Amino acid sequence: MAVANPVRRPGPARLDAATSALVDQAEAMLRGRTIAVLTGAGVSTDSGIPDYRGEGAPARSPMTFQTFLDDERARQRYWAGSHLGWRHFSAAEPNAGHKALADLELRGPVNGIVTQNVDGLHLRAGSRHVVDIHGSMDRVRCLHCGQTFARVDIAARMAAANPWLEAPEGVRLNPDGDVDVDAVDGMVVPACSVCAGVLKPEVVFFGEFVPTEKFREAAALVRQADALVIAGSSLVVNSGIRLLDQASKRRIPIVVVNRGETKGDSRATLKIDAGTSEVLAGLAERLT
Ligand SMILES: [Zn+2]
Repeated sequence: MAVANPVRRPGPARLDAATSALVDQAEAMLRGRTIAVLTGAGVSTDSGIPDYRGEGAPARSPMTFQTFLDDERARQRYWAGSHLGWRHFSAAEPNAGHKALADLELRGPVNGIVTQNVDGLHLRAGSRHVVDIHGSMDRVRCLHCGQTFARVDIAARMAAANPWLEAPEGVRLNPDGDVDVDAVDGMVVPACSVCAGVLKPEVVFFGEFVPTEKFREAAALVRQADALVIAGSSLVVNSGIRLLDQASKRRIPIVVVNRGETKGDSRATLKIDAGTSEVLAGLAERLT
């Protein structure tokens, strides 16, 4: 009887000679320093979570906070998509890049991670100090009374109230944990069990600000470090640029790892244009 091969994700690709030389340079810059890390969507693409701006990314206008508040149908569509996206996220596994960062924190040089990702993969890889400036898909908050809920509980209520969501057709996953779904007629969105208010996943929508307290925490992490590594972010988001500014003003080494250009390239001490999984793994190997 033929046995199907288990699906196996490839390990990080080997570094080519040119990239390997750049990782050596990064090692020399970073050795002996406390390193803060900022990550974006590029770090999670090897876990099967697509990048907003990467190849094949969907052309889609993001949900704004105002639309979410004002339009019940938009809210139904968002919740259907978010539910399916969250299920996909919870099935995703941390990749070699996430694991390398967890290792670098555990063994010393990294003091924490500021992430723009809402997928929870840094925590699942074993990182301890993670500041999720754009929130997390794993939490849900009531917009009226502020009560927070575990996503897993809200997801159970979603599934019970909308059995069709268990086998939807023709859905497409987006990196913010949303998917495009059309059929939302009759869809029941759970309300807050405390006050019946509107529930929203605790992620920062387009047009919303990063909560002040979160940003302060992120800024403190960068301030307490004497080097900054930016991985998998093209830095089009304002909060990322502000953290780069902060490091740039202090003239600490800034290493940018990303496939393609970023808005921080001109201010990077070193830019490595390559995949984050293999570069971070190479860096962890050298620094731990
Ligand atoms: Zn409430």
